[in-house]
Amino acid sequence: MKLQKLRSIAYLAAFACLAAPAQADWVRRVTDGIMGTRITVELWADDETKADPAIDAVLEEMRHIDDSMSTYKPTSEVSLVNAKAADGPMRISKELFDLLTTAKEYSVITDGAFDITYASVGYMYDFRKHIHPDEAQIDKALPAVNFRHVLLDPKNQTVQYSQKGVRIDLGGIAKGYSVDRGIEVLQARGFTRAYVSAGGDSRIIGDRFGKPWMVGIRDPRKGEGEVITRIPLTDAAMSTSGDYERFFEEKGVRYHHIIDPRTGHSASKVRSATIIGPSATRTDGLSKTAFVLGPEKAMEIYNRMDDIDAIIVKLDGTVIYSKGIEPARKLPPAK
Ligand code: ADP
Ligand code: MG
Repeated sequence: MKLQKLRSIAYLAAFACLAAPAQADWVRRVTDGIMGTRITVELWADDETKADPAIDAVLEEMRHIDDSMSTYKPTSEVSLVNAKAADGPMRISKELFDLLTTAKEYSVITDGAFDITYASVGYMYDFRKHIHPDEAQIDKALPAVNFRHVLLDPKNQTVQYSQKGVRIDLGGIAKGYSVDRGIEVLQARGFTRAYVSAGGDSRIIGDRFGKPWMVGIRDPRKGEGEVITRIPLTDAAMSTSGDYERFFEEKGVRYHHIIDPRTGHSASKVRSATIIGPSATRTDGLSKTAFVLGPEKAMEIYNRMDDIDAIIVKLDGTVIYSKGIEPARKLPPAK
């Protein structure tokens, strides 16, 4: 009798589990329209019901970053800075202050190739409408392009432009930053295996149960599905910049969205650059450099950084790899 009772309790418990199973699964969602790009979130959820609220929270965070940092939004904090910071020191949010500080560090590391004040000239381009400034307009605006014009005071958390005409645009770093914030949102909710991407910027935490994530690098002159190689990644960020992203051609000149801060023209020294590193803010901030400085000089800078790897597609279509990747490529294929 006693045994019988125990058995029925065991059956009941088994049924209870069947009735409300905590399903574990991979969950993936693709969303268009935030920061003008495609957001992908993929994660492993021990309990599937926790996945959707977590992905909602990631997208919410990205919308917040878009609202505060987009230059397309006249009410964003960055737009207000552009309107007023030449008049005197302006107190800004800690989040923006910290990102401006990071952006300045990348300008120093990249010999000025990465420079958010590119926008002092860059705002005159509209790649969708095929509009570009003429030489006289560039000459006039170019003196305002220099990251040193952005004066940051950490004590008072203020920003000031040292002269009129300076504009900033965080389009070259904000997507990477939003990916990092998205990953942090997931980590705070206990997720340990996830992939978040915003356009060409992505980051991965964890693995796929003993296997790495395989991330493709697009061939710059072919369709979206065509890759030049696939890289196995765990716990890493990756950013790709390409001259195919936003561009138009006029009289044989290719106008595209990465601007050389020294000339105010499109920087066209490579076709694409992929950077692999610890955070997407960092890889995003570094992926423009090769376009401005050219493959050799940029690779020298990338190779100097222990936490960075790079894959550059040169103008002739050949591919060069940083010293951290090169040895792995020479290994015989796994049996
Ligand atoms: P995506 O916008 O797809 O992430 P990239 O990471 O290649 O593409 O960033 C390109 C963007 O970077 C441009 O649209 C522009 O907003 C910004 N940008 C262009 N030139 C520079 C530069 N020299 N320094 C910093 N940011 C730049
Ligand atoms: Mg980017």
